[in-house]
Amino acid sequence: MSKYQENKFYIFNTLTRKKELFQAMNPPHAGLYVCGPTVYGDPHLGHARPAVTFDLLFRYLKHLGYKTRYVRNITDVGHLESDADEGEDKIEKRARLEKLEPMEVVQHYTNSYHNAMNRLNVLPPSIEPRASGHIIEQQMMAQKILDNGYAYEANGSLYFDVLKYHKDHNYGRLSGRVLEDLISNSGKPGVRDEKRNSVDFALWKKADPSHIMRWPSKWGEGFPGWHLECSAMSQKYLGEQFDIHGGGMDLLFPHHECEMAQSVAAGGSDAVRYWMHNNMVTINGQKMGKSLGNFITLDELFSGSHELLESSYSPMTIRFFMLQAHYGSTLDFSNEALAAARKGLIRLMSTLKVLDKLEPGEAGSFRVDQFEEDAFRAMNDDLGTPVLIAHLFDASRFINSAYTGSDSITAPDLEKLRKVFRLFVFDILGIQEEEEDKEIGDLTSDLVNLLLTIRLEVKKKKDFELSDRIREELAGFGIVVKDKKDGFEWEIKD
Ligand code: ZN
Repeated sequence: MSKYQENKFYIFNTLTRKKELFQAMNPPHAGLYVCGPTVYGDPHLGHARPAVTFDLLFRYLKHLGYKTRYVRNITDVGHLESDADEGEDKIEKRARLEKLEPMEVVQHYTNSYHNAMNRLNVLPPSIEPRASGHIIEQQMMAQKILDNGYAYEANGSLYFDVLKYHKDHNYGRLSGRVLEDLISNSGKPGVRDEKRNSVDFALWKKADPSHIMRWPSKWGEGFPGWHLECSAMSQKYLGEQFDIHGGGMDLLFPHHECEMAQSVAAGGSDAVRYWMHNNMVTINGQKMGKSLGNFITLDELFSGSHELLESSYSPMTIRFFMLQAHYGSTLDFSNEALAAARKGLIRLMSTLKVLDKLEPGEAGSFRVDQFEEDAFRAMNDDLGTPVLIAHLFDASRFINSAYTGSDSITAPDLEKLRKVFRLFVFDILGIQEEEEDKEIGDLTSDLVNLLLTIRLEVKKKKDFELSDRIREELAGFGIVVKDKKDGFEWEIKD
């Protein structure tokens, strides 16, 4: 029996608003589509959360034995300044400001996104398609929707007919929005508006003469609407129906609602079986935004160069910080919370070193099988990383007491504990050792060893007061010293 059959993996489906047992359509294959970035600016905290969340899912699906095809797109055309088909294309605007060709902007920010993801140890997806590389697929899908009667042409643009669609299907089914409210909130279409109704959205937009990114179509020169790319590309690479579609909660409406409507309008049925959404990041309790001055890029976090930051935070600290919260909860960034995450991460990494040095002995208090079962149960419960990390810290406490001699573990149990602990920390949570930490760690070790060697001399001279003081001061830093017959041992305690 393979691991995906043994493990009952539950995920929260946004569509049904329930935790559901994950059952792949064609096991052992699993398909995952996640909305990637619109590449017109430096990657920031808002990019890191979906990337880490769905990297965790990708890693876990693979661990369970699924041959997972993970498609994460790059939006390089069609995402306008307003989600309601208004304003300039975000990439074109940046290109104008920087006097660059739009594809130079795309390449530049795609590279910085990849670099940041790499530092966060986010695995590359199996396929990373670009919207501009799938214009024909998008036109074909728009044509299908038109043929099925759910779109109309107006002055060289093509719009999705939301009201017509809503008569046959339910617009708002995914996001829980009510169409009547949407209509009354967005007002009546203006006289010059081409849309029949203000809630209609563009499948294809006619390019005005100044628009740079444009392609020929039977409706005239133009560019695809933002929502269409994900429907067209997910279908192309994962099939008309596929397992999981993910993304940030901010994409639930209108982007995902429109994607869903497009797939139903084109193919007659839902394309996605499980919709998953990660929650948002706030900074000191506030929404992140350029106008609020709390917009922090990942590079600024890694280097500590933003005025809100009291220090730099390593990529693994950021990753661990995100994993300490459940992906479905909001996550608030503050210097205190990040400092606490860094401390926790150091504790975990030092436990791994202690685990390597630990010698087996008698049977002790720790039940490795139970630990393994608990860890899997946490992950199987909708990627319950906070619970998983709590179990890792429990194991860590045991490992430290076994190391100082107040508990013990048999050789086969120790072997299994090493395997399970490393599996969850490295393979599933995707934590990796950081060069920077290693250097700081080595320096700390050298300094503690130096101080304790001096303490041995102090003891020889029978200055017990000073010797005790060194031990107590070190304890203040969480360093526990154990005196041995002819030397010392020490460890970092939580
Ligand atoms: Zn998308």
